[in-house]
This record gives sequence, C-alpha cells and structure tokens, in this order.
Amino acid sequence: MARYTKAKCRLCRREGEKLFLKGDRCYTDKCSYDRRPYAPGMAGRARKKLSDYAVQLREKQKVRRMYGVLEGQFRAYFQRADSMKGVTGTNLLAMLECRLDNTIYRLGFANSRDQARQLVRHGIFMLNGIRVNVPSMQVSPGDVIEVREEARKIPVITEAQEVIARRGCPEWLVADGAAFKGEVKAMPTREDIQFPINEQLIVELYSK
Ligand code: SF4
Repeated sequence: MARYTKAKCRLCRREGEKLFLKGDRCYTDKCSYDRRPYAPGMAGRARKKLSDYAVQLREKQKVRRMYGVLEGQFRAYFQRADSMKGVTGTNLLAMLECRLDNTIYRLGFANSRDQARQLVRHGIFMLNGIRVNVPSMQVSPGDVIEVREEARKIPVITEAQEVIARRGCPEWLVADGAAFKGEVKAMPTREDIQFPINEQLIVELYSK
C-alpha cells in the first residue's frame, strides 16, 4: 500500500479531530478542521450513528494517521505489543512514541512527524554517534540523538530551541537545542501521551 499523499487536513476532518499533521499551521486560524469541523465530501455534515466496529476502526485509523504508519506496519506493532509483558494498548503507544521520527518531532527538531521522517531519510541525524536514515527505528533509554554538524544551519534545525521552548518536551526526553542534541531518559509512560486516544478500542478491533 502506498503512503497517503493527498491533503493532510482531510484526515483530521475525516477523523473528526485535530491530528496536528501540519506543524505550526495547526495552531493558527488557517487550520481546516477549525474552519470546517465536519467530514469532507457531500455527506460530510450528515450525522451518522456509528456501530461499535466503526468506532474501533476510526480510533485505529486516527492513531495510525497521527503517527504516519501504514496498515501492515501498524498491525505488526500491535502483534509485537500483544506479545510483550504489560498492557497491550500501552505497549503499542510506547512503541509508536519510540519511533525515531516521532522522537525527533517530540524533541523539537521538526515541526511535524512527516517533516521529521523526511529529515531522517536525508540522514541528518546521528543515533549514538552513528548516522541513521530509517524513520521507524526504535529508540531506547540512554540513546542520544544528535544533528550532524553539516545540517545545523537548516532553518528548521536552527529554530529548534524556539520550538522546544514553545512546545515543551515530554518527560521521557531531554532536549538540548543549543547543543543540537537530545537524549532518551526513560521509556514513555501512558501519561506522557497527552493526546486523547482510547487504545483499548484498537485492542478490541484487532482481537476479533
Ligand atoms: Fe489537521 Fe488543522 Fe493541522 Fe490541517 S491544520 S493537519 S486540519 S490540525
């Protein structure tokens, strides 16, 4: 399945929630969802009662779209989460949070996960001193992410300090914009993921 390349704002409108897919624009009055908070298309404004299955499906799609993960990858994350100790839904969210692209976004080195993914693919980051270019890599406590010397003049990187100050950094990470680096302090906990997600619905969907 190919990656979704159409207008991102349609996804927020489809899911009936702001998914913050376009960086700073999402916080301005240009946000399409704020202006048209209903699904795209002719029947977008029609009120529909969703079945239990549809509610579960929508929750899964919302999370999958937020993190920019394809269906097959998402299912693989779920299977791994299910085989791990602990609560499956929490394990799933922790794995998604620990993706390298998401970590870079959370550290403030990118305005969106999409942009983080693109920057990683261009090889501008080092993980524990080694150049990396795989956005789906998992980070673990103790890992250090650093911007390569040659890329420190890229505008999005030079603005990182301001982004960190404005957006804040989750508890499980330590960002040092001045040194162009960040560290993974601990595994993310459920409380670190502030976005309203009902992961139990996803567990129910995949457990059928
Ligand atoms: Fe979603 Fe609004 Fe951001 Fe567009 S601008 S991606 S509608 S939150």
